[in-house]
Amino acid sequence: MLCNQCSMSLIGGCTVRGVCGKDPDLNSLQEALLYGIKGTAAYYYHALEMGYDNPEIGHFLAEALYSTLTNVNFDKNRFLQLILENGRVHLEAMKLLDKAYTETFGLPRPVEVPTGTEEGHGILVTGHSYKALYELLKQIRDMGLENEIRVYTHSEMLPAHSYPKLKEFSSLYGNWGGSWVYQRKEFAEFPGVIIGTSNCVQQPTKAYQDRIFTVGIAGLEGVPHIEDYNFEPAIKRALETPKMEKREGSKILTGFHHTNVLAMKDKLIGLIQEGKIRHIFVVGGCDVPNPKMSYYEKLTEIIPKDAIILSAACGKFRYNQRDYGTIEGIPRFLDFGQCNNVYSIIEIAIALANELGTDVNSLPVTIVLSWMEQKAIAILYSLLYLGIKGIYIGPKAPEFLTPKVFEILKKEFDLRLITEPERDLQEMLSGIKIEEGSPLAEELD
Ligand code: SF4
Ligand code: SF4
Repeated sequence: MLCNQCSMSLIGGCTVRGVCGKDPDLNSLQEALLYGIKGTAAYYYHALEMGYDNPEIGHFLAEALYSTLTNVNFDKNRFLQLILENGRVHLEAMKLLDKAYTETFGLPRPVEVPTGTEEGHGILVTGHSYKALYELLKQIRDMGLENEIRVYTHSEMLPAHSYPKLKEFSSLYGNWGGSWVYQRKEFAEFPGVIIGTSNCVQQPTKAYQDRIFTVGIAGLEGVPHIEDYNFEPAIKRALETPKMEKREGSKILTGFHHTNVLAMKDKLIGLIQEGKIRHIFVVGGCDVPNPKMSYYEKLTEIIPKDAIILSAACGKFRYNQRDYGTIEGIPRFLDFGQCNNVYSIIEIAIALANELGTDVNSLPVTIVLSWMEQKAIAILYSLLYLGIKGIYIGPKAPEFLTPKVFEILKKEFDLRLITEPERDLQEMLSGIKIEEGSPLAEELD
């Protein structure tokens, strides 16, 4: 453990046990809560940015923070409860953000987003803030530059194309690049201006440091920050950058949402009951510069053709450009958009369970998450709050969980770490857990 938050701290921090009496497991639970509420704060911030509030979320953030002060709460069970409460409140935050986006920009519609380029000066927008993207597009239009400047989305901005009120701006053209992990290379190759609206944005290289801006929550050392969503400096800078040429590219399908998927609920249920859809995989989450992320590429490749994959967040750029085909007209790969859009996937799972008169754990559904930072942790808590068991997480176990705390989660929620794609897939499809050291496990190893 490492805690140095009060003046009783030993030199270099309390690392074995706190002077206050805090032990490593309690410290781990406090950190687990702190990281969860960081994730919740991110979605809450974007909802507030849009003018939407639910005071319950703010109250919980205050309560959770306060509970981790020195000498306030030493009760580990209370922290376990607070972590699940974080999951419940996080669902509210995702719901609030979905309401903010859909009421402001309209209900998402599936759309094929071009990955090529169009002639004109370019602006590339990365991060999660549709508010920032909207203000930029509006100001380009108000300045009469819609034919001069083309706006491209990057990483988590991709699903912006599916919202009618954003798509109606003719300057919004296509998508450039993949997840945040490759941004330094992709931004260097993009000749225009880059705007970072939230995570995950990194310190720029020399190749593009004179044409990148931040806005809202994002900030970079030595990079101009757009104040009050006034994008004039970035738009003017874009006009100084070389014009891009027209180049054909492929298309990425995105824009699935619980409203447009549940509109075909009866068909979906029929296909499940007829065995034409054998299994539903939810494979989503962050991208991480970790070689074990190849697990997700492989898993999505070997998932059988009579199963569908629901996905969200930026890890999908590793596997979203394959041709997965369709099952009776339903795409086998459905991209719901940003990490917060996991809310839509949860809505679908609950609706299907209700329709089939069962619970989510009894559905032929497996959730496989990749996590990088704290928003994914908060989403995990939401899934645990809903009582969903047997979730797979990777590419590694969270460092902030002590072995004992991780064991508790494994026991209570059957939380599983990813192993090998072939082995896990067999477990997922059969519903039979392959225990370590069992003959089947040895055979598969
Ligand atoms: S809160 Fe406890 S563990 Fe943390 S620095 Fe103070 S005495 Fe040490
Ligand atoms: S999904 Fe996670 S890793 Fe990816 S951009 Fe969003 S916060 Fe960053």
